[in-house]
Amino acid sequence: MSDSFDLLVVGGGINGSAIARAAAVAGRSVLLVERGDLAGATSSASTKLIHGGLRYLEYYEFKLVREALRERAIMLRTAPHLVRPLEFRLPHRPSMRPWPIVRLGLWLYDLFSIGGGLPRSRGLRIDDDRFRTAHGRGFSYWDAWVDDARLVVLNARDAEAAGAEIRTRTALVSARREGELWQARLATPRGERQVTARMLVNAAGPWVDELLHGPLGFGGRSHVRLVRGSHIVVRRAFDGDHGWLLQQPDGRIVFAIPYLDDFTLIGTTDVAVAAPEESRISSEETDYLLDAVNLYLRAPLTLADIVGDYAGIRPLFDDGADKPSAITRDYRLELDADGPKLLSVFGGKITTARHLASVALDKLGIRGGDTRKRPLPGGDVADFADFLAGVRRRWPFLDPATATRMARAYGTGIAALLDDAASIDDLGRDFGAGLSAREVDYLVRHEWATCADDILWRRTKLGYRLSAEQAASLEAWLQERQA
Ligand SMILES: Cc1cc2nc3c(=O)[nH]c(=O)nc-3n(C[C@H](O)[C@H](O)[C@H](O)COP(=O)(O)OP(=O)(O)OC[C@H]3O[C@@H](n4cnc5c(N)ncnc54)[C@H](O)[C@@H]3O)c2cc1C
Repeated sequence: MSDSFDLLVVGGGINGSAIARAAAVAGRSVLLVERGDLAGATSSASTKLIHGGLRYLEYYEFKLVREALRERAIMLRTAPHLVRPLEFRLPHRPSMRPWPIVRLGLWLYDLFSIGGGLPRSRGLRIDDDRFRTAHGRGFSYWDAWVDDARLVVLNARDAEAAGAEIRTRTALVSARREGELWQARLATPRGERQVTARMLVNAAGPWVDELLHGPLGFGGRSHVRLVRGSHIVVRRAFDGDHGWLLQQPDGRIVFAIPYLDDFTLIGTTDVAVAAPEESRISSEETDYLLDAVNLYLRAPLTLADIVGDYAGIRPLFDDGADKPSAITRDYRLELDADGPKLLSVFGGKITTARHLASVALDKLGIRGGDTRKRPLPGGDVADFADFLAGVRRRWPFLDPATATRMARAYGTGIAALLDDAASIDDLGRDFGAGLSAREVDYLVRHEWATCADDILWRRTKLGYRLSAEQAASLEAWLQERQA
């Protein structure tokens, strides 16, 4: 274990892990520290869209949309197991946005998507009788969907494969400049550790300012606007594989997306908050989201239909916008080169993290690290349907839902996990919903999982399927294993 690095990255969300990956691929020695679990904060609480952001066109954010759509194409190629195309339907409501305006927006979206491999938008009749539309007309367009927390883990795994050291449950306590180096103190599960680094990246997400003003000892005004976004999860509310983009009377839009086969994900909100810890959905937000879908659904949803919820804090760069929903979703990288370099990350999207990382490397003066064509771990899959069929042939004892879940989560990495297993008994204990001791063991050994929450809510989303007793027995098993 070395104690001196080229780069110390603080924060194991999507931005920190993407920067660590790119820097390691560029041949630099990298240490990434995350004080909780990878993707433990905002990066597991997104809407999980790999998208250009159709609504950002209204704010003339053409550069952001074009860049994000380019990234969408890269993600579909480099992680075809984890990222998948998703069609959206948009019921037209003349009172909200006139037909020509929506058509123009979609035309621009198509234009920016050329070469991206997804179908173009089109007008269509909406004949789903569960939905109420003004006159049965609407649009269809395409974006993509990702398991956000797994995307973070895959970035971290690729960083590790390229030589980076990844430490979870490890916090930066303080760092100061001494000559050419940062001297950093870390709190680890085994006690304090001192390391040096030539450069430091502050990718602490909603805590970016806290890190600057606390452990790094900087003064100055705050640049971050904290905006909570919440989601509710209900039992599947409509048929089909497509999602819905639902315009709201306040000008916002709300997504309703097929989620984990049996559920529908509904989000999101935009609520300004004062602290990163205010990451629980409020009853007003729950009501707002129910009202938003009920504006369109003939059989309204009620509180009793909600099976889960989550909220995350967007660490947006303060561009002075009045309304939280109008603050730019583009990122800003602030470089302080008054001594060993410090780069702070503000804002950004799951979608654009790879691009953000390449710009971060430029700012730090690191050459190389091009990840545009580099598959994420398990992503060397030519055609997902063929790949899944191969998985089912090779391990026929997996039930179809588990085979699909694991093929999506691990891609070609599934071979290392299942290896020579010839029957379900070879996978050891079943914790419920197809989660085997073999898989849990793999997640602990290779994906930094340490407790049931890491496994049930971030490495997998099986938290929706295990009972409280099953989750508790997984936790007990993990604690026993670690002891
Ligand atoms: C509701 C919502 C919906 C969204 N939907 C989408 C979407 O559909 N598509 C999209 O592309 N983007 C979406 N986003 C945006 C995207 O989720 C965020 O921009 C992104 O996750 C931010 O990642 P991050 O790495 O900057 O922050 P985070 O994921 O919050 O990571 C920061 C990490 O730093 C760690 N940390 C803090 N202090 C320390 C310390 N002292 N030592 C060690 N570690 C520390 C924290 O524990 C945390 O894990 C959405 C965001 C929200 C909130």
